[in-house]
Amino acid sequence: MTIALDPLMTWLVVAGIIVVLLFAFSVGHRTGTRRTLNRARQYSRVTDPDALVDGGNGRYRAALVVNPTKTDVRGLASTAEAICRFEGWSPPLVIETSVEDSGEGATVRALDEGVDVVIAAGGDGTVRAVASALAGTSTPMGIVPLGTGNLLSRNLDIILDKTEWALRIALWGRNREIDVGTAKTAEDGDTHVFTVMTGLGFDAAVMADTNSDLKSRLGWLAYVEAGSRKLAGRPSHVKVTFDDDYRLSARVRSVLGGNCGKLQGGIQLLPQAVIDDGMLDVLIVSPKNLGQWVGVLASVLGRKASKGLHTDVRKCQKVVIESGEELDVQLDGDPIGQSGYLAMEVMPSALTVRVPTVEQRKQIRAEAWPV
Ligand SMILES: [Mg+2]
Repeated sequence: MTIALDPLMTWLVVAGIIVVLLFAFSVGHRTGTRRTLNRARQYSRVTDPDALVDGGNGRYRAALVVNPTKTDVRGLASTAEAICRFEGWSPPLVIETSVEDSGEGATVRALDEGVDVVIAAGGDGTVRAVASALAGTSTPMGIVPLGTGNLLSRNLDIILDKTEWALRIALWGRNREIDVGTAKTAEDGDTHVFTVMTGLGFDAAVMADTNSDLKSRLGWLAYVEAGSRKLAGRPSHVKVTFDDDYRLSARVRSVLGGNCGKLQGGIQLLPQAVIDDGMLDVLIVSPKNLGQWVGVLASVLGRKASKGLHTDVRKCQKVVIESGEELDVQLDGDPIGQSGYLAMEVMPSALTVRVPTVEQRKQIRAEAWPV
């Protein structure tokens, strides 16, 4: 009896598997599952097989440091968890930022947990806070850009509007070492880290005066509105010392130190800035009246800020700006108060950021324009 049923059972099982496979194929064909499977195969090519040997359960783990004012944390956490599971990673450690901790404390906690990448999900403020804690370590930073400017993502060509891709890039992207800048607003003051640019004067005054409601409704146009109100101000006398040596005295509206120079709308404020050359590009903006501002604008829009009208750019490793009056200071677009002193220095190759691989770029393009 048993001998007679075994071949029958085997046949039934085989037939069942064929039916299930045919069903899955036909459904998959319609729903795009096949595309997902193909994509999974492509991912496996960029995966480093030797990498999956971490301690614990032998799987990688990411931390997601999220600014809850920029997104639905639950939604993002469940997307991140699904992607991590699909990619063979452990569920991510999700930590929300707060008024007291904009992300630096959260990142230190994540590092204590031994995560393999810390993903900053928020605006430029969150990216700066996470970068502050990661600078000088070998743990890479991923970015899910959720802000208005998203300047570091723009400068590194990290995808801006596709959260799922940003997460995949954070997990399996290429490690790119970049410089970060440090800034101090007093000789014995705290050291702040920035990844894009820090400035004293007009630019910081605009950021301090930008209406946050308008910013959430109009985006970067809110800066234009605040900027137009500040244009008519008067220049301030500053002394700028480059690399402890060369000094310059001038009446200026703004002095900016930049690690990279791309802004919203494709504007290149520092066309010569290179994010990993171990140098800061210092831009001095010195129009005396509204007419000269037109020259500055033309220089910036013409991508000639270095040789432009009423602007000057110098490369250095360290710069100190001293002013007799208190001027607004901004770090990566965040106003941090006023000071008559600003020292900036570059920390070469201090931060590792996950940027898209060539393969990932191809896949993102293929998704945007399916053949
Ligand atoms: Mg540089």
